[in-house]
Amino acid sequence: MIVLTGTCNCGAVHFEITEPLQAAAYCHCTRCQRRTGTGAACNARVDAAALRVVRGEDRIRSWKPADGAEKCFCGDCGSGLFARTPDGLSVGVRLGVLDGDVRITPSLHQFTAYAAPWESIPDDGLPRYPERAPQKALETVAGLSGGLS
Ligand SMILES: [Zn+2]
Ligand SMILES: [Zn+2]
Repeated sequence: MIVLTGTCNCGAVHFEITEPLQAAAYCHCTRCQRRTGTGAACNARVDAAALRVVRGEDRIRSWKPADGAEKCFCGDCGSGLFARTPDGLSVGVRLGVLDGDVRITPSLHQFTAYAAPWESIPDDGLPRYPERAPQKALETVAGLSGGLS
């Protein structure tokens, strides 16, 4: 069953997700700022097996830092798509590239120590973590683990 779909700006890449998103977080890390050109990014976790690229696999480009998840984006239009965790078991999907209602809202802010100086973190009552949110906090939310940045 297809729960969600994602589409890049130019339409070259289209993917499907067959399970509900497990948890979502705002990430204020420097890598998210650079890859999106914004102050923070919203990412949500789903099992890697639940994500299938329907169209445009050959258009996807990625950046794999030595110490982090492989960040995949459309090579034609630059839209961020998802990140594959080093263990290959899960992906961090970029909420902004998903179509329609994703039925989840971010539960916390992480890497706030690196937040952009030109944008204040909203006073939304969500927990804030100066570095990566501890595994325990994310599991409390909904079984989230690292690799979302
Ligand atoms: Zn594209
Ligand atoms: Zn990040």
